[in-house]
Amino acid sequence: MEQSSLCDDLGRKVRYLRVSITDRCNLRCLYCQSNRLSRYIPHDDILKYEEILRLLHILVPLGVEKVRLTGGEPLARKGCGEFLGRLREHFPNLDLRLTTNGTMLSGSLQDLVQCKINAVNISLDTFDPETFTKVTGRDMLPRVLSTIDALVDAGIKVKINAVLMPGITQASLEQFIHLAQDLDIDVRFIEFMPMGQDTIWSKDAFCPWSEILALVTKNYELIPEKNVDLTAGPAQMFKFKGAPGRLGFISPITNHFCYTCNRLRLTSDGSLRLCLYDDHEYPVRPLLRDAYVTDEQIAAKILEVLRKKTLGVGLLERRGQNKPVAVRNMSGIGG
Ligand code: SF4
Repeated sequence: MEQSSLCDDLGRKVRYLRVSITDRCNLRCLYCQSNRLSRYIPHDDILKYEEILRLLHILVPLGVEKVRLTGGEPLARKGCGEFLGRLREHFPNLDLRLTTNGTMLSGSLQDLVQCKINAVNISLDTFDPETFTKVTGRDMLPRVLSTIDALVDAGIKVKINAVLMPGITQASLEQFIHLAQDLDIDVRFIEFMPMGQDTIWSKDAFCPWSEILALVTKNYELIPEKNVDLTAGPAQMFKFKGAPGRLGFISPITNHFCYTCNRLRLTSDGSLRLCLYDDHEYPVRPLLRDAYVTDEQIAAKILEVLRKKTLGVGLLERRGQNKPVAVRNMSGIGG
């Protein structure tokens, strides 16, 4: 395994880049997008696919081994499927992933198969059509469920990202358990993070991972799994006896994983976001668009700013009472 020279002052090595290719999304999830969000990033400020490709040719030799395309909704951007194909062409060994809301897959399934995508994460928080419409603002649950079936039938690894909110989506817990018992799918419950303005984050809408685990283990036996992959995400994974799927818990609020953080984010308007919770962003778009700036100079700049990567948990602890930890909405960051 290549030594990553993308290292911060805490000695954490970056191996995983999350690339937001658009801030646009066809859904309005209560925990992501503010309903007031009307102004999108101007088209000219959005990084071109060529610019993202150039940046990856700088970052992969420095140690990036895993790239996830996110949004907004990445499939809302024209050419997303083809771009995945180009990424595979340029980086045959890259661990390539996509996070989608599962409502816009049609027409891109073949692209995902051909680029041999390593996994697709689908955001799904409920199996109840009314609750789905309430949470996302759109009546599209059947489309998401058929996307899951289509991906599984195509042999693509599927992971579900579910935000269980008491009194809103938590009632679907049993159905998520059954999904992992029936299919070779990873269902991961993510703690609701206080990110962005005007989302419905509150203590009442928050459920710690330990409570969900307790609810599951009341009726089901779970076998913990050891995480050995250095590029792996922070999920704590569990298997059911004799079932194909797994359950996972991602606990950024009550059991953070900042000391082993291996990720960097590229926003759709071309800034490096060193930590999800840190609104200080470092623009690389101007460097990419300056004909006199070389790849070596961009690499040096990235290594310089990366040293400033903070421990997000500190920001979380220092935020004001009931205040968001970061102002920028998830849709502009890619989660
Ligand atoms: S909060 Fe920041 S430092 Fe912590 S795991 Fe997330 S990105 Fe990494």
